[in-house]
Amino acid sequence: MTPGPGRLVLLGRPTGHSLSPRMQNAALDAAGIALRYEATDLPRRALDETFASLRRDRAAGNVTIPYKEDALARCDRLTPVAAATGAVNTFWTAPDGALVGDNTDVEGFRRAFGTLVHQARGRRVLVLGAGGAAAAVLLAMKGWDASAITVYARTMARGESLIHRLGVAASLAIDPSEPARSSDIVVNATPVGMHDGEMPLDPALLLPGTIVLDLVYRAGETDFVRATRARGCQASDGLAMLVEQGALAFERWFGFAPDREAMWNALPERR
Ligand code: NAP
Repeated sequence: MTPGPGRLVLLGRPTGHSLSPRMQNAALDAAGIALRYEATDLPRRALDETFASLRRDRAAGNVTIPYKEDALARCDRLTPVAAATGAVNTFWTAPDGALVGDNTDVEGFRRAFGTLVHQARGRRVLVLGAGGAAAAVLLAMKGWDASAITVYARTMARGESLIHRLGVAASLAIDPSEPARSSDIVVNATPVGMHDGEMPLDPALLLPGTIVLDLVYRAGETDFVRATRARGCQASDGLAMLVEQGALAFERWFGFAPDREAMWNALPERR
């Protein structure tokens, strides 16, 4: 943990849609810290040079799509949860100058959705996607006694390697339609839904009452959240997880918890 990072950055491409700068800058203001949290839209070819400058500047920050796995390979040390997920979403510079990679998406998912998941009936879970966010969800769900977990991966090899690496008891589906019909919980861990008209799954496949957790967020909620709610599902978007993973990241950087109320209030979408 770095008590005073030299810079605070968000690395990704694109980063324009991200609400993290608003949210983290509100937390910094509430804590009376003058530092600014800045989004850096990076081409892949700039990654090596950027990580070298982060070390020089004793920087801390977050990593978003598509660089969470690239960041993992460029950190000097990893927390056990970052190593297990295979993705870094939070980093800081340790007193010895090493860049430490962590993953707060796992605990962020647990804090945001744990209560809802525990309310689910049989807890047959369908996770859409096989990237870093899906890894965080599967790790968070370990020990939650789901009766069956299915992972929908459009790239089978990525799904296979994810399940193998995490050591979770889950089956793979190349088509989500069948498991969708019998799932109690559906988690969208693909980026599908960031734009108008996009949905990761036909809402008509879901039983009313299904818990839908869409990790994607956008102004006015995602089409998937609105359509599945209209079908009688209990649907939430990714804002709560965004705040929880961001609050945990802030704690890693500064050693104390941020004002979560201030973070929520900085989000233009809704409370
Ligand atoms: P990622 O590592 O790039 O993985 C994305 C996964 O989705 C991959 O398995 C990819 O398949 C699949 N996918 C992409 N487009 C698809 C499509 N059109 N149809 C079916 N599958 C598709 O990304 P990530 O880091 O896991 O992030 C996924 C989403 O979760 C992003 O939108 C991110 O913003 C969101 N997220 C939100 C929070 C939060 O706090 N709310 C936290 C973490 C992530 P291929 O391997 O075949 O490309």
